[in-house]
Amino acid sequence: MKGFIAPGATLGVLGGGQLGRMFVHAAQQLGYVTVVLDPDPASPAGGVAHHHLCADYLDPAGLAQLSELSAAVTTEFENVPAAALRSLGAQRPVAPGADAVAICQDRAAEKAHFRRCGVPCAPHALIETEAQLAAVDSALLPGILKTARMGYDGKGQRRVRNPDELALAWRELQQAPCVLEALLPLAYEVSVIVARSAAGEVVHFPLQQNLHRDGILAVTQVPSPDLTQLVQQRAIAAAERIAGDMAYVGVLCVEFFVLADGSVVANEMAPRPHNSGHYSLDACDVSQFELQVRAMTGAPLAAPRLHSPAIMLNLLGDLWFADGSERERAPPWHEVLAMPGVHLHLYGKSTARRGRKMGHLTVTADTPAHARSVAREAAALLGLAPF
Ligand code: ATP
Ligand code: MG
Repeated sequence: MKGFIAPGATLGVLGGGQLGRMFVHAAQQLGYVTVVLDPDPASPAGGVAHHHLCADYLDPAGLAQLSELSAAVTTEFENVPAAALRSLGAQRPVAPGADAVAICQDRAAEKAHFRRCGVPCAPHALIETEAQLAAVDSALLPGILKTARMGYDGKGQRRVRNPDELALAWRELQQAPCVLEALLPLAYEVSVIVARSAAGEVVHFPLQQNLHRDGILAVTQVPSPDLTQLVQQRAIAAAERIAGDMAYVGVLCVEFFVLADGSVVANEMAPRPHNSGHYSLDACDVSQFELQVRAMTGAPLAAPRLHSPAIMLNLLGDLWFADGSERERAPPWHEVLAMPGVHLHLYGKSTARRGRKMGHLTVTADTPAHARSVAREAAALLGLAPF
């Protein structure tokens, strides 16, 4: 097959976090050799890859080594400098490409892309100057002020009710370029994960419903309990358009808000496998990480099939301090592992911190109700807030 990078070749990944680690596992399962570039000597992916290049993302020597070793390169996080992808892309297939990642790195560019694709997003305004701050339309308040770049897990965001709070929040965010979004009344949130090949083939996962706490994903349910046929069609069509119009190659996640009237509003997108797709490892016949491998190597994209209803619970570092003390203590894994259909994934991070993603747990079962009841029991046992 023309352009197919067959198993046995080496695949490179920029970034060594948990997404890189699960990508490495999937690549290795398919018989690829893996190399990770990450400056942290203890990175979760660096520890499981065949090779770990311990270098900064913009280090020319590190990038040259990555390029030399790899038949193709991908990224596991969107804040990798687009310049690094661009320089690699001149030598090797890079998926996703620098231009697509550059759009996803910037909330304003991302929203402009949604609009170009005819996909609704929240009413918003760009705030880069005092004049723009002063000119904000009061219809955007109450709203959420978000830094245009580098935000994740609710970081770099402030909820604001009036112009005074807005001005204060912008100062707190160091007057960085920001997007102010109107606070929308959400009925529920879903995300769609699509994979697209260089040849334009597109497949998608079933929609997952996501519950966030403090701006961080807490629970994902598949099938989505609230989803209607119409919302599903709209969201999938939107995600496919968003990927296609960027000539995207790889796995892309688009997060949507669903409003009470059933309208579907794009929130943001991630140019990579996403936390809300982790359930696919245990509940689908092909995972989001395997699809990333397939897309970047030019392999056929198998359409994923959900074989079990699933609930994913994120395991944040807070669980290690569940007794309220400052002393780190491992959660009761032994009891959790005794529950039927529980799949525990820990990312190999040596120290726990509050808010840090340490792992996740997926419950699969024969029915959604059964998955929910086991997941609720597991959540209670671990001291997670009920859902
Ligand atoms: P991540 O990258 O981890 O998904 P993030 O830091 O980029 O998160 P967002 O996705 O922008 O943050 O927002 C996090 C959550 O905050 C959303 O999933 C939603 O629950 C809530 N939220 C964000 N924007 C709005 C809005 N305009 N109206 C109502 N709720 C919102
Ligand atoms: Mg988000």
